[in-house]
Amino acid sequence: MRKINEVIVHCSATPEGRHVTVGTIRDWHTKPKSQGGRGWNDIGYHYVIYIDGSRHEGRPVEKVGAHVAGRNTGTVGICYVGGVAKDGVTPKDTRTPAQKRALVELLSELLETYPKITKISGHRDYAAKACPSFDARSEYASLVRDRGHTPQPSTAHIPDKRIAYLQRLLMRAGHSPGLADGIVGPKTRQATKAYQEHMGLSVTGELDTATVKLLRETFEPSIDEEIERDIARALDKDNRAHRERQIDEVLADHDKSPVTSTTAIASATATAGGLTAAASKAVEVYEEAVDVAGRAAEATGEAVEVASPLWQAAPWAIVAVVVVGAGAWIIRERVRKARAAKRARLNRQ
Ligand SMILES: [Zn+2]
Repeated sequence: MRKINEVIVHCSATPEGRHVTVGTIRDWHTKPKSQGGRGWNDIGYHYVIYIDGSRHEGRPVEKVGAHVAGRNTGTVGICYVGGVAKDGVTPKDTRTPAQKRALVELLSELLETYPKITKISGHRDYAAKACPSFDARSEYASLVRDRGHTPQPSTAHIPDKRIAYLQRLLMRAGHSPGLADGIVGPKTRQATKAYQEHMGLSVTGELDTATVKLLRETFEPSIDEEIERDIARALDKDNRAHRERQIDEVLADHDKSPVTSTTAIASATATAGGLTAAASKAVEVYEEAVDVAGRAAEATGEAVEVASPLWQAAPWAIVAVVVVGAGAWIIRERVRKARAAKRARLNRQ
């Protein structure tokens, strides 16, 4: 069995709500570099979690993956579909509740199968990029720590940071537990009950697994909010000379070009689909012409006749080349415009 000591979580860096299959991602990873792919022999991830929460196997888990530079040995790569807002550029935690559940389930299974796993990380912990658009380390820390038994928040009357955190989430939910003092007292129980009642959970007054899960899913700050906050902080200094540079820094932290380029590859792949159809039409016509020519030459024994149908096919080849060139130019322009629009939006804030 391959020695595995860490799981690394990724996103497909595709727009929120877009369905992407293992086959598509495998295409991105296996297509030659000349066609915008990575030129690998298989998909880089071991598992892909679709928007509906279904789990799909990629590269066999027994094989070393290709998902994080310098850390593929000893790791398993999981990718959830999404990770970018509908604009196709802005990093966003787009995980659906079903995907969140599926991730926890898969991670728990891996922890059980590979007892040497000591860490669950996100791609961004090892590269200057936003992937997977949420903090996997902190979100899954308790899974690793409490492996084998269900994590239960402390109910002892000593301040507990985790309880204080949940109390703050309760406040966001509009059910104040008084102070976020980290102690579960009558007010916290009251607020918890009110929240559970409101959400149709079983009303226990305890911060049980289901309640904690829903609270965190609904009220944890998203990566978007974090970016907004960081930018606001950067602009707060109100120094116009530094403003441009500060935006650059924040963007560099949160929105690395790999995300954009992956998105560009995604839309390029879609466009390439159309172009390939046009090209194969041209080839079809060409082959047909050759076929006709072959039969004609055979019948008459005159090789000269081959030339005429071939000349008929030539315009199709020229059209295909022009269409491919125009397509590439359009994609490049689109990516450039999206970046410019984003920069303008950030500048306005
Ligand atoms: Zn990644």
